[in-house]
Amino acid sequence: MRKAPEKNTAVAFLGLGAIGMPMARRIADAGFVLSVWNRSAEKAEHLAGSGHARAAATPADAARDAQIIFTCLPTSAEVEIVTFGGDGLASAMSRGSILVDCTSGDPHASRSIAERLQALGVDFLDAPVSGGVVGAEAGKLTVMCGGDAAALERARPVLQAFGSRIILCGPTGAGHAIKALSNALLAIHLWSAGEVLVAAAKAGVQPSIALDVINGSAGRSNSSENLIPQRVLTRKFPATFRLALLDKDVRIASSLARESGTPADFIELAHELFARAHADLGDEVDHTAALQVIEREAGVTLSATP
Ligand code: NDP
Repeated sequence: MRKAPEKNTAVAFLGLGAIGMPMARRIADAGFVLSVWNRSAEKAEHLAGSGHARAAATPADAARDAQIIFTCLPTSAEVEIVTFGGDGLASAMSRGSILVDCTSGDPHASRSIAERLQALGVDFLDAPVSGGVVGAEAGKLTVMCGGDAAALERARPVLQAFGSRIILCGPTGAGHAIKALSNALLAIHLWSAGEVLVAAAKAGVQPSIALDVINGSAGRSNSSENLIPQRVLTRKFPATFRLALLDKDVRIASSLARESGTPADFIELAHELFARAHADLGDEVDHTAALQVIEREAGVTLSATP
């Protein structure tokens, strides 16, 4: 059996977006030898400027000499390009290395990527995360993995730099499947809590009072306890997790349900509502901004002050 990596394990991280940047920073701070690559080079240079990482010129350059390579990109489509495109990871990854894909990706794409990498002697783990930017900064992400248990054990010491719950969910694609399905629940909770608060406001109950009641009752959720009070009622909608990405997750969940013949009316409806909100509000807004669609149709603004 191959040995678990030591701190001098060479690691590469590609995709320094809202969540990728704090994850990569945690790996550097844990003392691993880190190369980083980002499409917009400034972000990689910024991290390298802190003295803990090397900014690579291309994905291949980042992967050279790395034993464990992370990707954290919007969708599996970008992972495929960065892996198999010109100057891609696959041209430089060595036999025995592992590609750990932290993108919230598509299980079909993961299986195809894993198969192509297997032919090169490279292992693949799908390892999407939950816990948001705050969880990444605190090293408290949940990491849901699909793939080989031995590969996960080799990657675990690096995953522990940003993850406090690391769960092997099943074979390749299982991590991506449960991530999409779990985010379908987020979408359903968020949208339905928005509808309930608007209806409550129309019945004369202020949103913060309605939340007080809901959060002491069985209908509470992360949306009612955290997202709506912190992001909607404050009218801040900080764009740390884009609506475009949640729309993508619900689309994957809806395909999974359809392909498996699961009766999934709520997931289908969430897919429709979030696709419409995304088309309406654009690529850059936070996922919680989706509630503005309900507000607009109802003529009600959910704010902390009457
Ligand atoms: P962002 O949109 O903030 O960042 C996306 C990253 O991908 C950036 O580094 C961007 O580069 C890069 N990128 C985009 N397009 C390409 C491309 N064509 N080729 C190469 N690189 C590209 O996304 P997040 O960091 O928020 O999310 C990343 C993944 O993590 C997604 O799958 C998301 O669903 C998931 N996730 C996000 C969470 C969050 O709270 N943000 C929570 C849990 C999961 P550039 O800097 O040049 O734009």
